[in-house]
Amino acid sequence: SKPLKEIDPELNNFLNLEKKRQRESLTLIASENFTSSVVFNLLGSEFQNKYSENRPNKRYYGGNEFIDQVELLCEERALKAFNLNPEEWGVNVQPLAGSTANLIAFSSVLEVGERLMGLDLPSGGHLTHGYQLPNGKKISGVSKYFTTMPYQLDQKTGLIDYETLEKTSQLFRPKVLVAGASAYARLIDYKRMREIANKVSKDCYLVTDMAHISGLVAAGTLPSPFEYSDIVTTTTHKSLRGPRGAMIFYRKGTRYTTKKGEAVKYDLEDRVNFSTFPQHQGGPFNHTIAALAAALKQTMTPAYKKYQEDVVANAAFLADELKKRGFQLVSDGTDNHLVLIDLNNFEIDGARVEALLEKINISSNKNTVPTDKSALYPMGMRIGTPAMTTRNFGKEEFAKVAEYLEKGVKLAKQFKKIQDESPVKVKGHTAKLNEFKKLVAESK
Ligand code: PLP
Repeated sequence: SKPLKEIDPELNNFLNLEKKRQRESLTLIASENFTSSVVFNLLGSEFQNKYSENRPNKRYYGGNEFIDQVELLCEERALKAFNLNPEEWGVNVQPLAGSTANLIAFSSVLEVGERLMGLDLPSGGHLTHGYQLPNGKKISGVSKYFTTMPYQLDQKTGLIDYETLEKTSQLFRPKVLVAGASAYARLIDYKRMREIANKVSKDCYLVTDMAHISGLVAAGTLPSPFEYSDIVTTTTHKSLRGPRGAMIFYRKGTRYTTKKGEAVKYDLEDRVNFSTFPQHQGGPFNHTIAALAAALKQTMTPAYKKYQEDVVANAAFLADELKKRGFQLVSDGTDNHLVLIDLNNFEIDGARVEALLEKINISSNKNTVPTDKSALYPMGMRIGTPAMTTRNFGKEEFAKVAEYLEKGVKLAKQFKKIQDESPVKVKGHTAKLNEFKKLVAESK
């Protein structure tokens, strides 16, 4: 057919603008990355035209001879990429996104109303780990369908407060304990999490959501959660550098042996697969699964290992540079791909800093820090290195990034001062932020 610019100039214009925006800005959003052209091409391939509900070789539609092989290849590579024995672990590569994967995974072992504990959103957890407001308002669907209780960071150290979690979990008695985060710069102690789950009950599942760090785990740069988890979920488009999508890994074999010596087997394979289809999804995105298979092959190369080592080294370097410039970091540093800045000492919020940085072509995101009350107007910023490391940034470039961030924060503070001194006052967070953006846009 004719090129997009002839058929749909309006859309073509937006595509060109977005391409330009991505090329010309510094992507510091920790959950974003630039995937390879191989992955890109498969996303726009013939695989996208096909319906293939259900598992390979058991489809509800004909014509899946090759699609079946692609999905099985993707599963095989997923297990290999994370060094898993197919006798002990299985994987479903059909989940369409990380949020869906978590709902599918939790629903595979929980009945409606049963209990789940996950890291609180203001502490760095993801919405789908059961987020609800302190007043009980259920924000995430996970908190609507299940009974959820959060655990938090230790406010002094910025680390997960395992001791309090151990105590509260024994009172709350969750059937699912979630390890994993969206904004946690330190290693998670999976062994400790397993012990905490075991103390609740031998039937408590440890579900690890490694969405943010799965690329680092695949490369062996960070410790793997598999040894201690029953289920592991991950997105495929963050540090992993694949297409937008998700996977659910589940254990097979013996779960535990009873006092009488009887082996209790895992039944997660059927549960996870049934929860995926027909319970929560219809036809899988075959183009995504093919692209994921290609991305997983790339994770097994020396170049990928080097890339992930660079991601971590760059984050550690950036953290040090920021500290030299007076930035305070939650947990005082990083072990992974991200840095969580606490802006309290600069007396400026993350929403204004994010807005200002966007004007100077730096894309970042505001984030809650442990002392925050509101997720809408938080006092933190989350900065990650995966995307710019893909674009070959090293120490020299990240030193500049730290310099720009300092300038950005100071500039945002100046604009806030102008706004605060204005005789005209607007009410509400959104109106105030819009007014701030207007001030920035109007200045030179
Ligand atoms: N889990 C974690 C830890 C995440 O950080 C995210 C996304 O940011 C998700 C799940 C959800 O993924 P998606 O945006 O694909 O639904």
